[in-house]
Amino acid sequence: MLTVSRRDRETSVRIGIVGGGQLALMMGEAAHDLPVTLSVLAASEEDPARRTIPDFLVGAPTDPEALAALAARVDVITLDHELVNLEALAALESHGTLVRPHPAAVRFAADKAHQRQALAAWGLPVPRFGVVTGGDDPELAPFLDAADGPVVVKAATGGYDGRGVFFPDSRAAVTDIVRDLGGVAVIEERLALLGEAAQIVVRDPAGDVVTYPLVSTYQAGGTCVEVDYPARGVDAAAAAAAAALAREIAHRIDAIGVLAVELFWTERGWLVNELALRPHNTGHWTIEGARTSQFANHLRAVAGLPLGPPTPTAPHITMVNVLGGPRATPAPASGPHLGVHDYAKSWRPGRKLGHVTATGAEETPTRVAAWGAARAWGTREEEPWHSSPS
Ligand code: ADP
Repeated sequence: MLTVSRRDRETSVRIGIVGGGQLALMMGEAAHDLPVTLSVLAASEEDPARRTIPDFLVGAPTDPEALAALAARVDVITLDHELVNLEALAALESHGTLVRPHPAAVRFAADKAHQRQALAAWGLPVPRFGVVTGGDDPELAPFLDAADGPVVVKAATGGYDGRGVFFPDSRAAVTDIVRDLGGVAVIEERLALLGEAAQIVVRDPAGDVVTYPLVSTYQAGGTCVEVDYPARGVDAAAAAAAAALAREIAHRIDAIGVLAVELFWTERGWLVNELALRPHNTGHWTIEGARTSQFANHLRAVAGLPLGPPTPTAPHITMVNVLGGPRATPAPASGPHLGVHDYAKSWRPGRKLGHVTATGAEETPTRVAAWGAARAWGTREEEPWHSSPS
């Protein structure tokens, strides 16, 4: 097993983060309490992580030279997002740079076709799917015949927050979308969802895993708007099945750090939607709501430090994402049961500006507190009950 070389117990582990977005910003906050020092490779001077990580390099996350410059300053590299150059990271890894998670594992997040094909080959539950390249791919017609109902088309790579996900209303529209996408696309059955959930686990380099509790997630327009602990409408057996599924995936793909598994809850049980190999939006509640946040545990895993307990700190926790409202509005203040996280991004209607987390003893007042703070700041058009994508 590769280990980070520690010159002595006092020396902190130097971690380089590729990407300077809000996840890197929050890793910077978590690093204060840990024996780690952070450097970041950000695409722009304006990126959020500038506020919390002083050692700030500017360069494209896909540029091999910029990645090599980051690698030269640190003991281990990790990621803020997966729109990176996996080949360049794999080349660094093969020359001895520690990259955690491994680029081969990140591919399960960056390439939906690879993820679906590998999970299906392992017998793990995913929607019925096909992988096609171009509108005249001979696999397309047989898949649509067999699907016998509406489908979803997804660009295999490059999509996020609903971008690259399409809900065509006719067979001709499917062909047009696949043709326009140009590259590899995943086509899958359009499911009648009973709900959506997320299961986060954190795996260290020795293979030990901590498991956060399952949470419910609600989307509007392809973007997650609300996350609730405990997951609603899920009994203990189903929650245990989700946790076991995430742990199995973590071991199979040799994840290091956070693995977030986005799940569809259907009449056939859990189906895996997406994987993320980094702190994830559905885990932001852990900053106030768990004994160890996902950010601290990600850094701990990447640095080879012991993982902390994922135990919740309150009976009910709601996280609401704040998207820019019709005009720029200052963020409300945090309170004893309310955490307000401003990503320091310039305002634009619909842009993800931050999030709020409320903790409490009862479900309804906790949700009301979170939505009240979020609406005072932005998010006016986005409501969880607009969650149907069709
Ligand atoms: P992204 O990569 O942009 O996050 P996802 O694949 O997670 O996109 O899809 C975004 C949302 O679209 C999901 O959270 C879900 O609400 C809906 N969705 C995606 N795939 C399906 C499907 N096969 N059936 C029904 N709804 C889906």
